[in-house]
Amino acid sequence: MRLIIEARLVDGETDPVEEGDGALAVVERTDLSLAELGLTLAEGRSLLAKVQTELISQQVQRWLAGQTHCESCGAALRHKDSRSTVLRTVYGKVTVKSPRLWSCACQGTARTEQRVVHPLSKALTRRVTPELEYLQAKWAVHLPYRQATNMLKEVLPQDKGISFSSIRHRILDLGKQLDADIERDIAQLPQSVADEQVRECSHVAAVSVDSAWLRNCDPGRDPGRHVNIVAGRATFTDGPPKLYAYVHKEVTSAAARLDQFLSRNGVARDERVTVISDDAGEFGKTVEGSQLARGRILDWFHIAMKFQAAERSVFGSKMIDSMERESVETEIIHAKWLE
Ligand SMILES: [Zn+2]
Repeated sequence: MRLIIEARLVDGETDPVEEGDGALAVVERTDLSLAELGLTLAEGRSLLAKVQTELISQQVQRWLAGQTHCESCGAALRHKDSRSTVLRTVYGKVTVKSPRLWSCACQGTARTEQRVVHPLSKALTRRVTPELEYLQAKWAVHLPYRQATNMLKEVLPQDKGISFSSIRHRILDLGKQLDADIERDIAQLPQSVADEQVRECSHVAAVSVDSAWLRNCDPGRDPGRHVNIVAGRATFTDGPPKLYAYVHKEVTSAAARLDQFLSRNGVARDERVTVISDDAGEFGKTVEGSQLARGRILDWFHIAMKFQAAERSVFGSKMIDSMERESVETEIIHAKWLE
């Protein structure tokens, strides 16, 4: 059995359907068993790549047909030569022929000579489709770059369309753009108001902030380097939680980052938000100087740890007699539950 998939081009909605001049793909199943049921991954990839090439070629050809005359006087533009333009899409890399034309004589003056115009280059400033950039960015933040590249290559016709380095570049570019956006926001943060004018924010339930050290495990590059990452999570009374994070050494002001995050998530300049952290040092590093995170509490687990340390010091002390020790211990336990 053979399944023949054809491409047919129809111009208008009512135009008659013409017979296609060739098959796009032929799927063959020689025996009658169900062992090979449906399209295989390889057949699917190949089919999608062929459909994409066919569609893009036709779209570009038809669009170019409307670009061959002068916009001002309508005269036909002379053909100079053709170049190849490579477009990267979710369904593969497509190469299209892109003609270069001489600009119209009506556009030139005695001083300026005729120019070369390249309509397709002018129209397609980016050679990568937004969907492919989206997929690359999405999977590269969830997986190591190499694994993201291999995964996309496995499911999409991306044999030579994407590479480890293109994904890495894309992520670094995106990071720079996000950073620039945040810095722009920080420059526009509103002035803070005095403590007495501030009310509790009803929209943000709480923000928790913590930090961690990551060790560079790539033996080829700076093996001993440690990176301190700060990450925070805001919970809202009316929506899903949001996260923010940065590399501590890479930002000029940690407090400004926190304020930008809160401000972007709807906290007004006269509102206060409570931040929970596991250590007083974290407040010093990540929250100190914040105009919006005015409430600060240590999380319950770490408070309990501090009481445990206090209890241990009472037991270990030779300065306290057993009667006194008991009463101090009771006080510590009571104080703990006061929290
Ligand atoms: Zn003209």
